[in-house]
Amino acid sequence: MRKVRSPAPTGLMSTESIVPNVPRPLTREMSVIAQDPSVRANGKILMAKVSVPAEDLTAGPVGDRVQVVDYDSSSRAFHGAHDLPGDATNEPAAWQRGDPRIVKDYRFHAQNVYALIMKTLARFEFALGRRIGWSFGRHQLKVAPHGMVDANAFYTPQEEGLVFGYFPSQSGAPVYACLSHDVVVHETTHALIDALRARYLDPSSPDRAAFHEGLADLIALLSVFAQDELLEKLLLQRRTVKASPALVDRKDLTPQALRDSALFGLAGQMGQEMQGARGDALRHSAQLMPDPHLLEQEEYLGPIDAEKSSWRRS
Ligand SMILES: [Zn+2]
Repeated sequence: MRKVRSPAPTGLMSTESIVPNVPRPLTREMSVIAQDPSVRANGKILMAKVSVPAEDLTAGPVGDRVQVVDYDSSSRAFHGAHDLPGDATNEPAAWQRGDPRIVKDYRFHAQNVYALIMKTLARFEFALGRRIGWSFGRHQLKVAPHGMVDANAFYTPQEEGLVFGYFPSQSGAPVYACLSHDVVVHETTHALIDALRARYLDPSSPDRAAFHEGLADLIALLSVFAQDELLEKLLLQRRTVKASPALVDRKDLTPQALRDSALFGLAGQMGQEMQGARGDALRHSAQLMPDPHLLEQEEYLGPIDAEKSSWRRS
C-alpha cells in the first residue's frame, strides 16, 4: 500500500521556521507632540508618549482603522507613503526629545496624526466596551495631514476621512493643524459622533452643531489630562512654591487661575497665529461667563422662517 504523506501546513517550509507562540503585546507606545509645537520646555517641543492598540502597519501608515494619505489638494503633491518605526525605541532621537526640526518632518507628522486618532478611537471603544465602525461603512478613516492650505481642519464622510490644513504663521513659517493635539482629537471626535449617531451631521438646528462642536472640544480638552508631561509643564510654568519647586502655588489652583490657564484653552498655537485672533487659544470656553441672553444673539438663532422672513429660534 502506498504511503501517503500528509502535506505540510501551508506556509511552513521546515520545522526550523516554526516560531514559538509568544503572545504579542496588545499596545505599543508612540511619541506625539503633547499640545502643539509652541509648547516647549528648555527649547524642546514638549512631547508625550501615547499607548495605542498594536497592529501591523504598512507604509502610509495604513492600519486596520486608519489610513494616512499624504496628498495635498492645494499643491496637488503627494508626499509619499510614510514607513513608521516598528516601535518607540526605534523612533529617531529627534522625535523622542522634541527637536524643533520635527515640525518639518512629514514622516513624524504622519505618526502624530495616526497615534492621536488611534488613541481617541481606543478611548471611545474602551468606554463603550465595543468596537465602533465608521459611519461610511469602510474599515479605514482616511487622513490627509497636509490636505490643503487653510487655517482649518475638517471631517468629511463623503471623502471618508479627515483633512488637516496648514498656513503661514506671522513669521512666515508654516503652522500645521496636524501637529495640534486638540485639533486632531477634535476632528476625530466628529468622525466618532457621526459613527455613533447617523444623520447627526445633517443641518437641522444650532443645537445639533453645538453638540458636535461642544463634545469634540470637551474630548480634546479632557484628553490633555491623560498626559502627565503636559500637565506638569502647564502647571509648573506658572508660580511655584519657592521652598519646593515641584509644588504648585495654591494661588495657581484657584478656579479663576485654572480658567485662565492654557489647560482650558483649545488649539493654542493655531489661535495665536490666525489673523484677527486675540493672541490666545482658538477657543477658551472656560472664560465665558454664563449669560442668559446668549441665545438672543443672531449667531445662535435658527434658520430663516419663510413665512415671516425673519430669523427664528429653533
Ligand atoms: Zn469642529
